[in-house]
Amino acid sequence: MSIDPAAELPFFYGSISRSDAEQHLKLAGMADGLFLLRQCLRSLGGYVLSIVWNLEFHHYTIEKQLNGTYCITGGKPHCGPAELCEFYSKDPDGLVCTLKKPCLRPPDTPIRAGLFDSLRDNMLREYVKQTWNLEGEAMEQAIISQAPQLEKLIATTAHEKMPWYHGKITRMEGERRLYSGAQPDGKFLVRDREETGTFALSMIYGKTVYHYQILQDKSGKYSMPEGAKFDTIWQLVECLKMKNDGLVTTLREACVNGKVAEKTPNLPTTRRPGQNGYTPPPRVIGAAIKAASAVPADRDVLPMDCPEFNPYHNPNEVRKFNIQRNQLLIDEVELGSGNFGCVKKGVLKTDSGQKDVAIKVLKSDNEKLVKEEMMREAEIMHQLSNPFIVRMLGLCNAEHLMLVMEMASAGPLNKFLSTHKDTVGVETIVNLMHQVSVGMKYLEEKNFVHRDLAARNVLLVNQQFAKISDFGLSKALGADDNYYKARTAGKWPLKWYAPECINYHKFSSKSDVWSYGVTMWEAFSYGGKPYKKMKGPEVMRFIETGSRMDCPAVCPERMYAVMKECWTYEHEQRPDFKKVEESMRSYHCSISNKAKPEGAAATAAEPIK
Ligand code: ADP
Ligand code: MG
Repeated sequence: MSIDPAAELPFFYGSISRSDAEQHLKLAGMADGLFLLRQCLRSLGGYVLSIVWNLEFHHYTIEKQLNGTYCITGGKPHCGPAELCEFYSKDPDGLVCTLKKPCLRPPDTPIRAGLFDSLRDNMLREYVKQTWNLEGEAMEQAIISQAPQLEKLIATTAHEKMPWYHGKITRMEGERRLYSGAQPDGKFLVRDREETGTFALSMIYGKTVYHYQILQDKSGKYSMPEGAKFDTIWQLVECLKMKNDGLVTTLREACVNGKVAEKTPNLPTTRRPGQNGYTPPPRVIGAAIKAASAVPADRDVLPMDCPEFNPYHNPNEVRKFNIQRNQLLIDEVELGSGNFGCVKKGVLKTDSGQKDVAIKVLKSDNEKLVKEEMMREAEIMHQLSNPFIVRMLGLCNAEHLMLVMEMASAGPLNKFLSTHKDTVGVETIVNLMHQVSVGMKYLEEKNFVHRDLAARNVLLVNQQFAKISDFGLSKALGADDNYYKARTAGKWPLKWYAPECINYHKFSSKSDVWSYGVTMWEAFSYGGKPYKKMKGPEVMRFIETGSRMDCPAVCPERMYAVMKECWTYEHEQRPDFKKVEESMRSYHCSISNKAKPEGAAATAAEPIK
C-alpha cells in the first residue's frame, strides 16, 4: 500500500537487525566509509544508517519528523532518505566520516519487510471493516482517501489486535491466564494496568510469573525501565522477542487472549464497544443521530464516521429512482439557487427512518428543454456511487420536477473556506482536495466528464469530508471515445476550462484535470476568485502566452507544483486523475503519517498569516 521511500536505494536492506547489518558490512570488506541503510525497528518511518570506520561499526538513527522530513539527531533535516544519504556523502556533519561506499544489497537478498509492512495492509482492511462496517469498494475508497489517518490509528492501536494483548485485566487474572495450560519460559501477555492507564508486561520464567511496568515518556514513547524507546507497544514487544533488555528472558510464545482467538487466529473481528470509550457509529439513516458523537475523543471525525460515507449498506433501502411525493417533506430553507430553480432543504421518509436531503426544484417545468436537462443530470448521477460524489436518491415528479440528493450540510467549499479562514489549516485543505481527486479518479475510470468542476461545486458534509456535486453539464463518454465534442458553446465557466475546451469544444477527463487545478487554487486561496478581475477572453490570452496564476500565499510548494501540472497546455502531456490522486495522496501522507505527540490535535490548524 505505501511504498517505503527508501525502497529504490540499492543499499537499503529493510527490516534487518543490527547484527545482520554488521554481518553484511563485514562481508563487504570493512572499508572506511562503507555504509548501508536499514529500517528502524523502534520508530515509525525511521531508519538506521550503519557505517564502518576504523574497522568499527557506527549506527545512526534517522528519525522521521512530524513535518515529514528526516534527520539524524542534531543534524539537518532532509526531505527523504536518499537526499539525506547524498548529503552525508559530501559532508560528515558530525558523523565519523562521509559515506564513501554503499554496501550494495546482493541480488539474491530482497528488502526484508518489517512486521508492520507485512501486517499493515491486512490490519488496515480489518480495522476499516470492523470499525466502520465497510466492505468492497467502499472499504477501498476509505483506505485510499484516509491512508495517513488510518495508518496512524493502526500504528498506535495495533497492539489491540495482537493475540498477546489482553486489555484491562488484573495482575491476578494475568497470572491465572499465564498459568493455565503449558508454561514454557518466555510465554507472555500485555495488559492494561487498572488505575494508571499504563501497560504491563507479564511473563513466565521457571514456572514463575514476572510483571514489568511498561514506561511511557512525555512524548508518548514506550520503553522498559532501562531499555530503548519505541513509538508503539507492538514494536517494543517485537524487539523484546530478540533482545531481553533487562527482562529475565526474551519474549517467546504469546499467551493468547481467548476472546480474541476464538474469532480469528490473528486479529479480533470486533472492536469491543466501550473500549477507549469507543462505540461503533450507528449505521442508521437519520438526522437525529449524529455520527460524530460516536467518535473517540482522541481523534478527528473521519469521512467514514458519517452515514453519508456509505448510505447504501442495504442498497434497496433508499435508492429508489421514483420518490413518492408523500415521502418528501420540503423545507422553506433555500440552500442555493441557479438558473434551473432552487435547491431546498428537506427530509426523505424511508422504511428505515428519516434522512436529510437537498432537493433541486425545477421552476419552469413547462420548458421541455430544462426538464430534459434535469433528467439527464439525474441519469448521470444515478450511475455514480462513490463516497466523494454527492449521491442522488431519486427523482420526484409532483408540483415540480425534483431531484432528491443526499445532503452536504456544510455547503460549497469556496464559501466554507472564506468564512473559516482562521480555523482551517492547510492540512485540512490537502485532505479535502485529495478526496476530490479520489472522486474524480472514479469518474475518470467510469468514463464520465464533469465539465463544471470548481470549488463552488465541491460540497462539504463537514470540515473533513468533501463531495463533488452539480452534474448539470456532465456527460458519459462512449466506450471508444475519450472526449466529448460540444456542438455549440454555452454559458461556460471559462476560467475553469482548459484551452482545448475553449478552442475546440473538446471535453475529456484531462480537461477536468485542468479545472481541478483551478479548484485547488481556489481552495488554497481560501475561496479566492481565480484570475482576479480578468474577463474570460483576457484569461484565454493570459494562458496562451504561457502565464499561470501565482502560488497562493499559504499554499505548499508541492501543491502549487501539482496545480501547474494540471495547467499543462497540451492535454496529451497533462497528468490524468490517476496520477493527480497519487501526487495528492503522497503529499497528504508525507505531512500526516507520523503519530503526533500527546496533546497535539491531528489536524491542528496552522495559523494563517
Ligand atoms: P447549479 O447548476 O445552479 O450550480 P448546484 O447543483 O451547484 O446547481 O446547486 C446550487 C447550490 O445549491 C449549491 O451551490 C449548494 O449551495 C446548494 N446545494 C446543491 N446540492 C446540494 C446538496 N446536495 N447539499 C447541500 N447543498 C446543496
Ligand atoms: Mg453549481
